[in-house]
Amino acid sequence: MKPAGSSAPVALRVTRGQIIARGLTHRCPNCGAHSLFRENAWFRLNSDCRNCGFAFERGGDEGFFLGSMSLNYGVTLMGFLLPVALLAFFGVVSGRVAVGLAVGGAVIFPMLFYRSSRSWWLMNYYFFLPHHLPANGGTGRAGGDANT
Ligand SMILES: [Zn+2]
Repeated sequence: MKPAGSSAPVALRVTRGQIIARGLTHRCPNCGAHSLFRENAWFRLNSDCRNCGFAFERGGDEGFFLGSMSLNYGVTLMGFLLPVALLAFFGVVSGRVAVGLAVGGAVIFPMLFYRSSRSWWLMNYYFFLPHHLPANGGTGRAGGDANT
């Protein structure tokens, strides 16, 4: 906690490197526990961390995870559909095979990438605003300090 009126930067207890490592492995950005998703439910995010109580769901901010859907869409497009289109364009696969891959992949790839897109979106937010994490003295939300 920095004193009032001080402009000196505060050392982060959770570093940006830790935030990236936790985001890539679907862990809580605040404490690093494996509690982001419910067990045996691929598409269910826990509302909060079972270890530290950090709230993953944002009740007053319904649009927050729209970013993760955009991320999922973008990765599907650039990481799957574009390569399939290029394979068809250069004659590596036939047009029929490309259409089959594209239609099947457009459904399956976003489902497989769902967890990563949610976790990576949280990682993205706290990478740029690490002082919002409760472990770093924040409230976990935008508007909790003078910077946002
Ligand atoms: Zn936690």
